Amino acid sequence: MFDSWQGVVALVVALSIAYAVILLAGMAVWTFRDIRQRTHDGWAQAFAVGMVVLFNVLGLILYLVIRPSETLTESYERRLETEALLRDLPERRNCPRCDRVARDEFLLCPHCRTVLREPCLGCGRALELSWAACPYCGAQGPQAIRSTTVPSSLQQRPAGETAETSHESAQTAQPAPHAAGSPSTGATQRPS
Ligand SMILES: [Zn+2]
Ligand SMILES: [Zn+2]
Repeated sequence: MFDSWQGVVALVVALSIAYAVILLAGMAVWTFRDIRQRTHDGWAQAFAVGMVVLFNVLGLILYLVIRPSETLTESYERRLETEALLRDLPERRNCPRCDRVARDEFLLCPHCRTVLREPCLGCGRALELSWAACPYCGAQGPQAIRSTTVPSSLQQRPAGETAETSHESAQTAQPAPHAAGSPSTGATQRPS
């Protein structure tokens, strides 16, 4: 009777120890796999696993609190997303001279009159100065025009001009400035 009772206790104790050992091993393996996804630092990995082995469940809770919040894959993906967002931003948000905010469609900086963009000769939309072609209609962009011919009338142009009048003035102003008798060309050649 006494022997069997002692045997039961011994069995329960043995089972409890085995359960604790398996649980501890499981927690240690899980921690090792988890920390390996979050850092390449060997010391940090050893510290995390050692903490769980030493303090068991308490160590695991502590590890969950202090572990890096995102895995290496997550941080890599986040970096890719940030880079993609930055690439999609327009080339210039602020005026390069006075650093005040200039909207995407501005041709001139409204504060210091710096030329930010030029209107397309084909469709009149604002084009970045570095563009070789208009992405909307395919006409030559400011970069391509500047590399071939540099008409002086294109350099200092009033901001409100439309594409038609600027195209006209670029063609007629160069060969014969006095020949144009129409009122529209006369208006565009007047200094601002
Ligand atoms: Zn400015
Ligand atoms: Zn265009």
